[in-house]
Amino acid sequence: MAEKTLETLFHDTLKDIYYAERKILKALPKMAKGAQSPDLKAAFEKHRDETEGQIERLQQVFEILGKRAQGKTCPAIDGIIEEGEEILDEYKGSRALDAGLVSSAQAVEHYEITRYGTLKRWAEELGLKDAATLLGETLAEESKTDEALTKLAVGAANQKAKAA
Ligand code: FE
Ligand code: FE
Ligand code: FE
Repeated sequence: MAEKTLETLFHDTLKDIYYAERKILKALPKMAKGAQSPDLKAAFEKHRDETEGQIERLQQVFEILGKRAQGKTCPAIDGIIEEGEEILDEYKGSRALDAGLVSSAQAVEHYEITRYGTLKRWAEELGLKDAATLLGETLAEESKTDEALTKLAVGAANQKAKAA
């Protein structure tokens, strides 16, 4: 068996987030469809479009490594998205739906932030400057999305969710 190195970890983690992003791309339209507030719908739609660009960036990173773009099942994102689907299902028609959807979406963003944070650092340590730049761009987008979601929660969804 070949020796496992930081390169191996970097490549495997890249596959993990590649799987996750493609899964997120499919989940976001369902979140947008389910959201009650037009602002939250718009936020999900905007992030769906950003996610397409993030997938392209990952493909560029695979190219830099000289590897084929390939995903590897990420049980974490599968579970996080499953919990989001539970919210959609169990809170349908309820005043607390949007607050629940924001919390689900933030769980996704936080997972992505840990992954991109690690990948960017590893890329730097491996001397993969262009890869680090690409990963850093996505990391910034995920953080911005997380902040926008917090604003939607604090500004509206949580208030609406409270009992009348
Ligand atoms: Fe993403
Ligand atoms: Fe994972
Ligand atoms: Fe994201």
